[in-house]
Amino acid sequence: MHENTGTGCCHPCFFYWVVEKMKRLIIDLSQCTQCLACVEAYPEVFRLNDAGFVEIIEHSDYPEDEVEEAIKYCPEDCILWE
Ligand code: SF4
Repeated sequence: MHENTGTGCCHPCFFYWVVEKMKRLIIDLSQCTQCLACVEAYPEVFRLNDAGFVEIIEHSDYPEDEVEEAIKYCPEDCILWE
């Protein structure tokens, strides 16, 4: 059983939900070879910016399956959850 303090739920499930939502998707540009495989496969998540680097398009939430596929197929293993 858990108590609600009035400022939010103190139950551990809430803590894990917050941690899960705080995960940030990043690209380690020191390893990225700009092969553009991620951009071509998932243009809703990755794009080439004006400076010529691959970047993550900011979303409040990411399509988990597509991101996991991109992570799996990135030849340099440089797409990471932080
Ligand atoms: S698939 Fe990996 S190496 Fe290729 S552009 Fe994307 S992040 Fe860079």
